[in-house]
Amino acid sequence: MAIQSPDTGNNEIAILNSTGRAGTLFEQVVLLLIIVIPLVLTIYAAVTLTQGAVHWGYPLATLIVFVLAGLGVTAGYHRMLTHQSFEAHPAVQYTLLILGAVAGMASPVIWARKHLHHHSHSDTEADIHSPHIPRWFRGGWLKWITQWFDAHIGWMFRNQPINVTRKALQVTSMPAAQFVHKTWLFWMILGLALPLLWGWNAFVWVGMVRLFLNHHVTWSVNSICHLWGQQPFKNTRDHSKNNPVFGLLALGEGWHNNHHFRPSSARHGLLPGQFDLTYSVICLLERLGLVWNVQRYGQCARCADWYALRSGDGGICPKCRD
Ligand SMILES: [Zn+2]
Ligand SMILES: [Zn+2]
Ligand SMILES: [Zn+2]
Repeated sequence: MAIQSPDTGNNEIAILNSTGRAGTLFEQVVLLLIIVIPLVLTIYAAVTLTQGAVHWGYPLATLIVFVLAGLGVTAGYHRMLTHQSFEAHPAVQYTLLILGAVAGMASPVIWARKHLHHHSHSDTEADIHSPHIPRWFRGGWLKWITQWFDAHIGWMFRNQPINVTRKALQVTSMPAAQFVHKTWLFWMILGLALPLLWGWNAFVWVGMVRLFLNHHVTWSVNSICHLWGQQPFKNTRDHSKNNPVFGLLALGEGWHNNHHFRPSSARHGLLPGQFDLTYSVICLLERLGLVWNVQRYGQCARCADWYALRSGDGGICPKCRD
């Protein structure tokens, strides 16, 4: 239950609820199992694959469900809900957020609030996940391994308060988000139970290997994409990086420096040659009339500043037009 303090004047409301806390011991044990069991079964699946004991249909089905659930996170939780980079028909809202829940990413409401906090405190002490804040060792390679691990997984087990802005409260009030907030665990379990009905191999692959991939690819955006890659937009004043491997694996989200530069852009692959599958899907849905008000950014033909594109602006930013 949220306990709100009076407005602090800087448009941030301190909120004392579970969004900043690591949860009860029981919840932490469940979280640990959700992380460890897919890891163990993924190693088991990899071994059976090398022994040639797996029909190709299982890895293929794993890939398909991985992409669908992944799009739920990237297009649904992240670009639609958290950053409002497009508007969508309710059927699309519910579908994307339910798919995001299948990816085992917790409630979209909690996810969005934590993520907005990450954007406003990126790579500072107040950031909930940054691989640049020393927490265990002050030097040597152990420092980097532990900091990477903390930004990848460790932070979920740590108490760290977050501030929830008025904007965060407003974006997460979307009815579809509130519905999936209450039901997300059901959708995650359904994503494991349906493959189980199909048999043990399907459970291992489409359930567990797929969950392992959805988790670690998403978490790598928090950890690896703040460590390794290029930073064409230095004025983000954080360590966000464009990482081509996760640009592909994380369905466009690995162009993370671009994303910190223009968080509300529906397209993360802003620069030439940066493939962004999530953006392609958003464009497809737009063509079908299911998505609209897609936020796009481009460089002004006169001053080369990045600005929010509007139809009929002729590629000239408002500053240069006046
Ligand atoms: Zn980031
Ligand atoms: Zn973001
Ligand atoms: Zn201009």
